[in-house]
Amino acid sequence: MGLLLDLLLPLRCVACGAPSRAICESCLAGLPRLGGVCCERCGAPTAWPVARCRECSARRLPFASARSAVAYDAGAKALVSAWKERGLRGLAEDAGSVVAEVVPRPRAYTITYIPPDAHRALKRGHHPAEGLARALESRWQLPVVALLERTRPAPPQRGLGLAERRRNVRGGFGAVGRAPSRVVLVDDVYTSGASAAAAASALRRAGARHVDVITFARAVR
Ligand SMILES: [Zn+2]
Ligand SMILES: [Zn+2]
Repeated sequence: MGLLLDLLLPLRCVACGAPSRAICESCLAGLPRLGGVCCERCGAPTAWPVARCRECSARRLPFASARSAVAYDAGAKALVSAWKERGLRGLAEDAGSVVAEVVPRPRAYTITYIPPDAHRALKRGHHPAEGLARALESRWQLPVVALLERTRPAPPQRGLGLAERRRNVRGGFGAVGRAPSRVVLVDDVYTSGASAAAAASALRRAGARHVDVITFARAVR
């Protein structure tokens, strides 16, 4: 149904509703870029450079770094939800171009992505994390390899506290085979970092020694 509507309706910007392709140039340009000073480890914006911030200093993080292109504000939320629910393909390219503009290419051999929940992927017919990974493939000249699978259906995370989110997804991912030593792990949004940490743990268990997490948007507290 979503796809059919996309074909029939004139395209409107998912953020402001102006007639345009999936997201208009001014909304795309207006997404708040996160390229400034941040926590070296988890990418949270900080007032000055720090190796670990309040958000991540008490945690054992299995990834080496996390970086995101934009703050998860209303515009970014509109883009991500249209991307998820309607599967607008052009949005993956738009998101990929913003990521490549803001985030330096990590030193890695492979890009992989947080795998979709089988049930949800079927319903949506589109998976933003994979779409973003594929949009970065040519920009960063890194091959996309599906290295991860879910070991159980993705639990709902909405409305849960940070500790509950982490407990919820722990052990929720497994690697499909051996992972290369340096991997870029892509997802659409970094909220608590719980999914990224659980997926990075699975990559580490499969042989990765250095995992850099890249997301399009990041919740900023
Ligand atoms: Zn717009
Ligand atoms: Zn941090």
